[in-house]
Amino acid sequence: MNNKHNTCGFSTRAIHHGYDPKDHHGALVPPIYLSATFAFPTVEYGAACFAGEASGHFYTRISNPTLALLESRMATLEGGEAAVAFSSGMGAIAATFWTLLRPGDEVIVSQTLYGCTFALLHHGIGEFGIKVRHVDLTDLAALQAALSPATRMIYCETPANPNLRLIDIAAVARLAHQQPNVTVVVDNTYCTPYLQRPLELGADVVVHSATKYLSGHGDITAGIAVSNQALAQRIRLQGLKDLTGAVMSPQDASLLMRGLKTLALRMDRHCSNAQALAEALQVHPAVESVIYPGLRSFPQYELATRQMKLPGGMIAFELKGGIETGRRFMNALQLFTRAVSLGDAESLAQHPASMTHSTYTPEQLAQHGISEGLVRLSVGLEDVADLLADVHQALAKCARASVRKAAMAPSAVR
Ligand SMILES: *Cc1c(COP(=O)(O)O)cnc(C)c1O
Repeated sequence: MNNKHNTCGFSTRAIHHGYDPKDHHGALVPPIYLSATFAFPTVEYGAACFAGEASGHFYTRISNPTLALLESRMATLEGGEAAVAFSSGMGAIAATFWTLLRPGDEVIVSQTLYGCTFALLHHGIGEFGIKVRHVDLTDLAALQAALSPATRMIYCETPANPNLRLIDIAAVARLAHQQPNVTVVVDNTYCTPYLQRPLELGADVVVHSATKYLSGHGDITAGIAVSNQALAQRIRLQGLKDLTGAVMSPQDASLLMRGLKTLALRMDRHCSNAQALAEALQVHPAVESVIYPGLRSFPQYELATRQMKLPGGMIAFELKGGIETGRRFMNALQLFTRAVSLGDAESLAQHPASMTHSTYTPEQLAQHGISEGLVRLSVGLEDVADLLADVHQALAKCARASVRKAAMAPSAVR
């Protein structure tokens, strides 16, 4: 593999790492190897591949030249030694859990997690004799108290979904590594390596839903795990090859590499658009509060500036008037698309209390810091003036409806 760009900057590596057109008939764009299987020149060579003694490709569930190029790019961008590609973020997360955990082990996880990761823990590995403990990882004393000789993994998302709470990765990793055999795994989907590099802060494995910002165009589902060489090899040979089989398609790897070429540009724009929207929302009378790591009012502003290069493209905000106002705002949006997922060119809005977290009771919502009027925005790449205009017209509609409602309420008649 061609590694002459190793010392170059982030975008140069995202565009060039590991590839030289002269090795591929001059093709500017890396070819897609749509082959499930690969020929062995001799049976002895085939045997060496199976024994892991030769590094040739032999079957795409284990390795493929297009996937290998993508994996080497993700490894360099995250500052890891090796990466493994998966067909979805959940594929990457499940393979990492199944590879690293055994019955009797304990895993400590942050309080608020992506819904399907929560389900995998409680309905998946939790039912196979692995103990799951939710701990507020912003509280290092609580983490210290929860660590036991059986702890094998600490798993967290930062920022969390949808309340954007941050976890100090360096502090958690330092504490975790005082004990042998604890692997720190960080879901870096919200930030991408352009904004945050957990391995450099002491984490052992980074997992991604590459369905989101990394691919960036909402047209594939994909996942990635990045770590040192030895761990990546275990995740590949157990988690991917044997336990999940969640292999990425080479076509999707090509689309994902296309996305990576513009990752830095896109993230800069997501962040500047989100900053402008967060500042506008913060001063709007219909808005109770705004949660965005780029605002000085953000409770962990200092940690955000230390840990993240930029504050990201996700905003959570609270409307005055609870669940009904939240719904009215959502329905009034014209440019923002009502949809879950994130990281696309299109701006998306979702209302956790009616959508992703609708099965939670009001008490559970409160416990996870998700109030009924909370709206989550994935700020896209459109012109910021158009996004601001859409949010303002939708807020004006909710405000008018609240005034009408107040006027009709019996107390207003007096
Ligand atoms: C979407 C998402 C996942 C799951 O990824 P899929 O590609 O949908 O399987 C995991 N973690 C986070 C933070 C996500 O946003």
